[in-house]
Amino acid sequence: MEIAVEYCGLCHSDISILNNDWGLSRYPVIPGHEAVGRIVAAGDYVKGLQIGQRVGVGWRVDSCMHCHECMTGNHNLCPEVAATIVGHHGGFADRLRAHWAWTFPLPDALDISSAGPLLCGGITVFAPLLTYGVKPTDRVGIVGIGGLGHLALKFANAWGCEVTAFTSSMSKTEALRGMGAHRIVSSRDNAEIFKVAGSLDFLLITVNTPLDWTALLKTLKPNGRMHVVGAVLEPMPIAAFDLIMRQKSVSGSPTGGPAAISAMLDFAARHGIAAQVEHFPLNRVNDAIEHLAAGKARYRVVLDVA
Ligand SMILES: [Zn+2]
Ligand SMILES: [Zn+2]
Repeated sequence: MEIAVEYCGLCHSDISILNNDWGLSRYPVIPGHEAVGRIVAAGDYVKGLQIGQRVGVGWRVDSCMHCHECMTGNHNLCPEVAATIVGHHGGFADRLRAHWAWTFPLPDALDISSAGPLLCGGITVFAPLLTYGVKPTDRVGIVGIGGLGHLALKFANAWGCEVTAFTSSMSKTEALRGMGAHRIVSSRDNAEIFKVAGSLDFLLITVNTPLDWTALLKTLKPNGRMHVVGAVLEPMPIAAFDLIMRQKSVSGSPTGGPAAISAMLDFAARHGIAAQVEHFPLNRVNDAIEHLAAGKARYRVVLDVA
Protein backbone atom coordinates (compact mmCIF):
# COMPACT_ATOMS: atom_id res chain seq x y z
CA MET A 1 0.00 0.00 0.00
CA GLU A 2 1.13 3.54 -0.57
CA ILE A 3 -0.51 6.12 1.66
CA ALA A 4 -0.60 9.90 1.31
CA VAL A 5 0.00 10.93 4.91
CA GLU A 6 -2.30 13.59 6.40
CA TYR A 7 -1.41 13.39 10.10
CA CYS A 8 1.28 11.53 12.01
CA GLY A 9 1.63 11.24 15.77
CA LEU A 10 4.98 11.83 17.47
CA CYS A 11 5.67 9.04 19.95
CA HIS A 12 8.46 8.74 22.51
CA SER A 13 9.74 5.76 20.50
CA ASP A 14 10.48 8.11 17.59
CA ILE A 15 12.92 9.96 19.84
CA SER A 16 14.39 6.67 21.14
CA ILE A 17 15.06 5.54 17.56
CA LEU A 18 16.44 8.96 16.53
CA ASN A 19 18.89 8.76 19.46
CA ASN A 20 19.57 5.00 19.07
CA ASP A 21 18.59 4.51 22.73
CA TRP A 22 17.68 0.86 22.05
CA GLY A 23 20.73 0.08 19.88
CA LEU A 24 18.64 -0.97 16.87
CA SER A 25 18.41 2.24 14.82
CA ARG A 26 19.41 2.20 11.15
CA TYR A 27 20.28 5.61 9.75
CA PRO A 28 19.07 7.61 7.97
CA VAL A 29 15.98 7.48 10.21
CA ILE A 30 12.65 8.86 9.00
CA PRO A 31 10.51 8.76 12.16
CA GLY A 32 6.72 8.63 12.39
CA HIS A 33 4.69 5.49 13.15
CA GLU A 34 1.22 6.81 13.97
CA ALA A 35 0.23 7.80 10.46
CA VAL A 36 -3.23 8.57 9.12
CA GLY A 37 -3.92 9.23 5.45
CA ARG A 38 -5.49 8.01 2.23
CA ILE A 39 -4.44 5.11 0.04
CA VAL A 40 -3.01 6.42 -3.24
CA ALA A 41 -1.53 3.22 -4.71
CA ALA A 42 -1.97 -0.51 -4.15
CA GLY A 43 0.03 -3.54 -5.30
CA ASP A 44 -1.49 -6.46 -7.20
CA TYR A 45 -1.91 -8.67 -4.12
CA VAL A 46 -3.61 -6.15 -1.84
CA LYS A 47 -6.75 -7.51 -0.13
CA GLY A 48 -9.76 -5.69 1.26
CA LEU A 49 -8.60 -2.10 0.79
CA GLN A 50 -9.36 0.47 -1.90
CA ILE A 51 -7.57 3.47 -3.38
CA GLY A 52 -8.87 6.60 -1.69
CA GLN A 53 -9.76 4.81 1.56
CA ARG A 54 -8.70 6.49 4.79
CA VAL A 55 -6.38 4.29 6.82
CA GLY A 56 -3.86 4.26 9.63
CA VAL A 57 -0.45 2.63 10.09
CA GLY A 58 1.27 2.06 13.45
CA TRP A 59 4.55 0.69 14.81
CA ARG A 60 4.61 -2.26 12.40
CA VAL A 61 4.48 -2.29 8.58
CA ASP A 62 5.12 -5.93 7.70
CA SER A 63 5.47 -9.51 8.99
CA CYS A 64 6.20 -12.84 7.30
CA MET A 65 2.53 -14.04 7.14
CA HIS A 66 3.51 -17.73 7.36
CA CYS A 67 5.11 -18.37 10.78
CA HIS A 68 3.17 -19.80 13.73
CA GLU A 69 2.73 -16.34 15.25
CA CYS A 70 1.38 -14.82 12.03
CA MET A 71 -0.88 -17.84 11.40
CA THR A 72 -2.38 -17.57 14.90
CA GLY A 73 -3.08 -13.84 14.69
CA ASN A 74 -0.10 -12.72 16.75
CA HIS A 75 1.72 -11.09 13.84
CA ASN A 76 3.23 -8.57 16.24
CA LEU A 77 5.28 -11.44 17.72
CA CYS A 78 6.57 -12.68 14.31
CA PRO A 79 10.37 -13.13 14.28
CA GLU A 80 10.51 -11.16 11.03
CA VAL A 81 8.07 -8.38 12.00
CA ALA A 82 9.23 -5.04 10.60
CA ALA A 83 9.13 -1.77 12.50
CA THR A 84 7.86 1.23 10.56
CA ILE A 85 10.90 3.36 11.45
CA VAL A 86 13.72 0.79 11.60
CA GLY A 87 15.18 0.10 8.15
CA HIS A 88 11.98 1.52 6.66
CA HIS A 89 10.86 5.09 6.05
CA GLY A 90 8.23 6.31 8.52
CA GLY A 91 5.30 8.70 8.43
CA PHE A 92 6.99 12.10 8.76
CA ALA A 93 6.74 12.21 4.99
CA ASP A 94 4.15 12.84 2.29
CA ARG A 95 4.08 9.12 1.38
CA LEU A 96 4.32 5.96 3.50
CA ARG A 97 4.32 2.30 2.44
CA ALA A 98 3.01 -0.68 4.41
CA HIS A 99 1.78 -4.25 3.87
CA TRP A 100 -2.02 -4.32 3.47
CA ALA A 101 -2.41 -6.50 6.58
CA TRP A 102 -0.74 -3.77 8.65
CA THR A 103 -2.85 -0.99 7.05
CA PHE A 104 -6.05 -0.34 9.00
CA PRO A 105 -9.28 1.24 7.73
CA LEU A 106 -10.38 3.94 10.16
CA PRO A 107 -14.00 3.86 11.38
CA ASP A 108 -15.91 6.94 10.16
CA ALA A 109 -16.69 7.98 13.74
CA LEU A 110 -13.01 8.55 14.57
CA ASP A 111 -11.67 12.09 14.31
CA ILE A 112 -8.74 11.68 11.93
CA SER A 113 -6.76 14.58 13.37
CA SER A 114 -6.43 12.77 16.72
CA ALA A 115 -6.62 9.11 15.59
CA GLY A 116 -2.88 8.67 14.87
CA PRO A 117 -1.81 8.04 18.48
CA LEU A 118 -4.31 5.17 18.75
CA LEU A 119 -2.18 3.19 16.27
CA CYS A 120 0.84 2.93 18.57
CA GLY A 121 0.05 4.36 22.00
CA GLY A 122 -3.57 3.18 21.89
CA ILE A 123 -2.96 -0.42 20.87
CA THR A 124 -0.03 -0.73 23.27
CA VAL A 125 -2.30 -0.12 26.26
CA PHE A 126 -5.41 -1.79 24.79
CA ALA A 127 -3.87 -5.13 23.75
CA PRO A 128 -3.15 -6.24 27.36
CA LEU A 129 -6.87 -5.89 28.20
CA LEU A 130 -7.56 -8.49 25.49
CA THR A 131 -4.51 -10.71 26.04
CA TYR A 132 -5.01 -11.13 29.78
CA GLY A 133 -8.81 -11.18 29.78
CA VAL A 134 -9.26 -8.13 32.00
CA LYS A 135 -12.91 -8.12 33.13
CA PRO A 136 -15.32 -5.20 33.71
CA THR A 137 -15.47 -6.26 37.35
CA ASP A 138 -11.70 -5.86 37.70
CA ARG A 139 -9.90 -3.01 39.42
CA VAL A 140 -7.13 -1.68 37.20
CA GLY A 141 -4.25 0.67 38.02
CA ILE A 142 -2.43 2.79 35.44
CA VAL A 143 1.06 3.97 36.39
CA GLY A 144 2.26 7.12 34.60
CA ILE A 145 -0.29 9.39 32.96
CA GLY A 146 1.36 10.61 29.79
CA GLY A 147 0.88 9.71 26.15
CA LEU A 148 0.23 6.02 26.88
CA GLY A 149 -1.28 6.37 30.33
CA HIS A 150 -4.01 8.88 29.46
CA LEU A 151 -5.24 6.52 26.71
CA ALA A 152 -5.09 3.61 29.16
CA LEU A 153 -7.34 5.53 31.59
CA LYS A 154 -9.92 6.04 28.85
CA PHE A 155 -9.81 2.44 27.61
CA ALA A 156 -9.93 0.86 31.08
CA ASN A 157 -12.83 3.11 32.10
CA ALA A 158 -14.81 2.30 28.94
CA TRP A 159 -13.97 -1.41 29.49
CA GLY A 160 -16.01 -1.08 32.70
CA CYS A 161 -13.20 -1.32 35.24
CA GLU A 162 -12.64 0.73 38.36
CA VAL A 163 -9.54 2.72 37.44
CA THR A 164 -6.78 4.03 39.70
CA ALA A 165 -4.28 6.51 38.23
CA PHE A 166 -0.77 6.58 39.68
CA THR A 167 0.88 9.88 38.80
CA SER A 168 3.97 11.85 39.79
CA SER A 169 2.05 15.08 39.20
CA MET A 170 -0.86 15.42 41.63
CA SER A 171 -1.69 18.81 40.05
CA LYS A 172 -3.33 16.93 37.16
CA THR A 173 -6.04 15.43 39.40
CA GLU A 174 -9.12 17.03 37.80
CA ALA A 175 -7.92 16.29 34.28
CA LEU A 176 -7.34 12.64 35.23
CA ARG A 177 -10.87 12.28 36.58
CA GLY A 178 -12.13 13.66 33.28
CA MET A 179 -10.19 10.92 31.48
CA GLY A 180 -11.76 8.16 33.55
CA ALA A 181 -9.75 7.83 36.77
CA HIS A 182 -11.94 6.94 39.78
CA ARG A 183 -9.03 7.16 42.21
CA ILE A 184 -5.72 9.04 42.03
CA VAL A 185 -2.56 8.05 43.92
CA SER A 186 0.88 9.68 43.99
CA SER A 187 3.37 7.28 42.37
CA ARG A 188 6.23 8.89 44.32
CA ASP A 189 4.73 8.50 47.79
CA ASN A 190 4.90 4.99 49.24
CA ALA A 191 2.57 5.87 52.12
CA GLU A 192 -0.09 6.72 49.51
CA ILE A 193 0.68 3.58 47.49
CA PHE A 194 0.34 1.37 50.59
CA LYS A 195 -3.16 2.80 51.24
CA VAL A 196 -4.33 0.92 48.12
CA ALA A 197 -2.37 -2.27 48.92
CA GLY A 198 -4.07 -5.51 47.88
CA SER A 199 -6.78 -3.74 45.86
CA LEU A 200 -5.90 -4.21 42.16
CA ASP A 201 -6.34 -7.07 39.72
CA PHE A 202 -4.17 -5.54 37.00
CA LEU A 203 -1.50 -2.84 37.15
CA LEU A 204 -0.30 -1.35 33.86
CA ILE A 205 3.13 0.33 33.88
CA THR A 206 3.39 2.99 31.15
CA VAL A 207 6.42 4.94 32.43
CA ASN A 208 9.96 4.51 31.05
CA THR A 209 11.79 5.44 34.26
CA PRO A 210 12.42 3.18 37.27
CA LEU A 211 9.92 3.29 40.17
CA ASP A 212 9.63 1.43 43.48
CA TRP A 213 8.48 -1.86 41.90
CA THR A 214 8.27 -3.62 45.27
CA ALA A 215 5.85 -1.01 46.57
CA LEU A 216 3.78 -1.09 43.38
CA LEU A 217 3.54 -4.92 43.47
CA LYS A 218 1.91 -4.58 46.89
CA THR A 219 -1.10 -2.85 45.28
CA LEU A 220 -2.05 -6.17 43.63
CA LYS A 221 -4.62 -8.65 44.92
CA PRO A 222 -3.75 -12.36 45.01
CA ASN A 223 -3.41 -13.57 41.38
CA GLY A 224 -2.83 -9.96 40.31
CA ARG A 225 -0.60 -9.00 37.40
CA MET A 226 1.84 -6.12 36.96
CA HIS A 227 2.20 -5.56 33.21
CA VAL A 228 4.91 -3.43 31.62
CA VAL A 229 4.47 -1.53 28.35
CA GLY A 230 6.84 1.36 29.15
CA ALA A 231 10.40 0.76 27.95
CA VAL A 232 12.21 1.00 31.29
CA LEU A 233 15.83 0.37 30.30
CA GLU A 234 17.14 -0.42 33.79
CA PRO A 235 16.63 -4.00 35.09
CA MET A 236 13.65 -4.30 37.46
CA PRO A 237 14.66 -5.86 40.80
CA ILE A 238 11.75 -8.01 41.98
CA ALA A 239 11.90 -10.47 44.86
CA ALA A 240 10.64 -13.99 44.06
CA PHE A 241 8.72 -14.10 47.34
CA ASP A 242 6.74 -10.99 46.38
CA LEU A 243 5.40 -13.05 43.43
CA ILE A 244 5.17 -16.47 45.09
CA MET A 245 3.23 -15.73 48.25
CA ARG A 246 0.10 -14.33 46.57
CA GLN A 247 0.68 -15.90 43.17
CA LYS A 248 1.38 -12.62 41.37
CA SER A 249 2.68 -12.21 37.81
CA VAL A 250 4.90 -9.73 36.01
CA SER A 251 4.74 -9.47 32.21
CA GLY A 252 5.28 -7.20 29.23
CA SER A 253 3.98 -6.76 25.68
CA PRO A 254 4.73 -4.92 22.42
CA THR A 255 1.85 -3.10 20.62
CA GLY A 256 -0.62 -5.68 19.17
CA GLY A 257 -1.52 -7.77 16.15
CA PRO A 258 -3.75 -6.68 13.26
CA ALA A 259 -6.95 -8.20 14.71
CA ALA A 260 -6.32 -6.49 18.06
CA ILE A 261 -5.67 -3.17 16.30
CA SER A 262 -8.94 -3.43 14.35
CA ALA A 263 -10.83 -4.30 17.54
CA MET A 264 -9.21 -1.34 19.32
CA LEU A 265 -10.17 1.12 16.55
CA ASP A 266 -13.76 -0.18 16.61
CA PHE A 267 -13.91 0.06 20.43
CA ALA A 268 -12.41 3.59 20.38
CA ALA A 269 -14.96 4.72 17.76
CA ARG A 270 -17.87 3.19 19.72
CA HIS A 271 -16.83 4.82 23.00
CA GLY A 272 -15.57 8.13 21.60
CA ILE A 273 -12.01 7.47 22.79
CA ALA A 274 -9.33 9.67 21.29
CA ALA A 275 -5.93 10.90 22.35
CA GLN A 276 -5.76 14.42 23.75
CA VAL A 277 -3.41 16.00 21.24
CA GLU A 278 -1.40 19.11 20.48
CA HIS A 279 -0.77 19.86 16.80
CA PHE A 280 2.43 21.04 15.15
CA PRO A 281 2.94 21.56 11.41
CA LEU A 282 5.49 19.14 9.93
CA ASN A 283 7.93 22.00 9.29
CA ARG A 284 8.10 22.55 13.08
CA VAL A 285 8.94 18.90 13.78
CA ASN A 286 12.09 19.86 15.71
CA ASP A 287 10.04 22.07 18.05
CA ALA A 288 7.58 19.20 18.49
CA ILE A 289 10.39 16.78 19.39
CA GLU A 290 11.85 19.26 21.89
CA HIS A 291 8.36 19.77 23.42
CA LEU A 292 7.85 16.02 23.87
CA ALA A 293 11.41 15.35 25.09
CA ALA A 294 10.99 18.09 27.72
CA GLY A 295 7.94 16.26 29.09
CA LYS A 296 5.63 19.13 28.13
CA ALA A 297 3.28 17.26 25.78
CA ARG A 298 -0.37 17.19 26.94
CA TYR A 299 -0.74 14.39 26.21
CA ARG A 300 0.28 13.43 22.72
CA VAL A 301 1.75 15.39 19.80
CA VAL A 302 0.40 15.10 16.23
CA LEU A 303 2.17 16.55 13.20
CA ASP A 304 -0.02 17.98 10.45
CA VAL A 305 1.64 16.59 7.34
CA ALA A 306 -0.71 17.61 4.53
ZN1 LIG B 1 5.05 4.59 19.32
ZN1 LIG C 1 5.48 -14.30 10.82
